[in-house]
Amino acid sequence: MQGNPQRPPVTVERLLVDGVEVDPEGAPRLAPGVERLELHYAAMSYVAPTAVRYRYRLEGFDRGWNEAGNMRRAHYTNLPPGDYVFRVVASNNDGVWNMEGASLHFTLLPRWHQTWWVRGLALLALAGLVVLGVRLRLRAARIRERELTREVALRTEALREANERLRRIAASDALTGIPNRGEFNRRLREAWNDHANRDAPLAVLLVDVDDFKAYNDSYGHLGGDTALVAVANRLADMVGPGEGLVARYGGEEFAVLLRDCDAEAALERAQRMVAGIRACAMPHRASSVGDAVTVSIGAASVRPADGASPDDLLRSADAALYRAKADGRDRALPAGEAPPIVLPF
Ligand code: GH3
Ligand code: MG
Ligand code: MG
Repeated sequence: MQGNPQRPPVTVERLLVDGVEVDPEGAPRLAPGVERLELHYAAMSYVAPTAVRYRYRLEGFDRGWNEAGNMRRAHYTNLPPGDYVFRVVASNNDGVWNMEGASLHFTLLPRWHQTWWVRGLALLALAGLVVLGVRLRLRAARIRERELTREVALRTEALREANERLRRIAASDALTGIPNRGEFNRRLREAWNDHANRDAPLAVLLVDVDDFKAYNDSYGHLGGDTALVAVANRLADMVGPGEGLVARYGGEEFAVLLRDCDAEAALERAQRMVAGIRACAMPHRASSVGDAVTVSIGAASVRPADGASPDDLLRSADAALYRAKADGRDRALPAGEAPPIVLPF
C-alpha cells in the first residue's frame, strides 16, 4: 500500500490576547500588561486529518519544540516583554513533516518602567544616590574630624593650663605665695648649669628674721604669719624677675638667688635688703636688736665653673648668716674671709 507523501501546509489562524482576537498578520505589537496569549494553528490534510501531529515553539521563550499531538492551540501566560517568533510544524497521517511550517512574529511591549532607558535612568539615579551618600558621609566624617581636632586642642590647652596651675601651686609657698624651697632648689640647679657653662658668678643670700620666736610669743602666731608675709613681699620687691628669685626657705628663713652676681654685688644687695626690712618699721617690741622687725643675711657667691657644688654655696651663705647672728643681728655678712663692705644707707 502506498503512503501519503503530502507535507501538510500549516497556518497560524488566530491570536487571542487576554481573550481578545488580534490580527496575527503584520507582526503585531502588543501593549504592555498582556497576561495570556493563545495561538490557534491548523494543518490542511484531507487524508485522516485527526492523525495530523503538531510541534510548536516560541522563539525567545521555549528552549525546544513542544510536542502538541493533535492539539491545535498553544498558550502562554505572563511572558516577559520582548520580540517573539511562534513557529508551528505539522506531520500528516504517515509522519511526513512539513518542517517549514508557519510562523508568527509578535512583540510584547514593555511597561514604562521596563524600558531600557527608564532602567538606565534608575541605575544612574541609584549611582548618583550612592555617590551623594558617600560624599555626605565623607563630609560628615571631615566635619567630625575637625570638631574632634578642635576639641582635642581645647582639652590639651585646658590640661596644659591646669598643669601649669598645679606646677605653680606646687612651686609656691602656701603662706606667702612666693616660690618655696623645692622651687628654689630647682632654679638653683638650673642656674648652676647655666652659669657653669658661661663661667659667670652666681650668688645666694640666706635671710633669717631676727628674734622671731619672741615675735610670735609677743604678737601671736597669726601676727607672726602676717609679719612673714610682709617680709616676703618686701624682699621679693627688691629682686626683679630677670635678676633672680626670692623664696621661702623654711620657717622664718628666706633664700635669694642672684644671677650674674659676684660676692661684692651680693653683699651690697644683702645690705640693701637688711636696710629695706628695717625701713618697713614693723613694730617688734620683743626684739633684742631694736623696736622693729629686722633680718640677718649671709651672702655667698661662686663661679660654678670652678668646681664647687650648689650645697657648698648654700653652706657658705649659712655660715655667713650664722656669723651675722653672732655679730649682733640686723646685718649682712659675706661668706669666707672677705671683709664686709659698709654702704651708706
Ligand atoms: P634668731 O634671731 O636667732 O633667728 O631667733 P629666732 O627666734 O628668729 O629663731 P628661732 O629659730 O629660735 O625661732 C624661729 C621661730 O620662727 C620659731 C617659730 O615658731 C617661728 N616660725 C617658723 N615658721 C613660722 C610660721 O610659719 N609662722 C609663724 N608665725 N612663726 C613661724
Ligand atoms: Mg631661723
Ligand atoms: Mg630667726
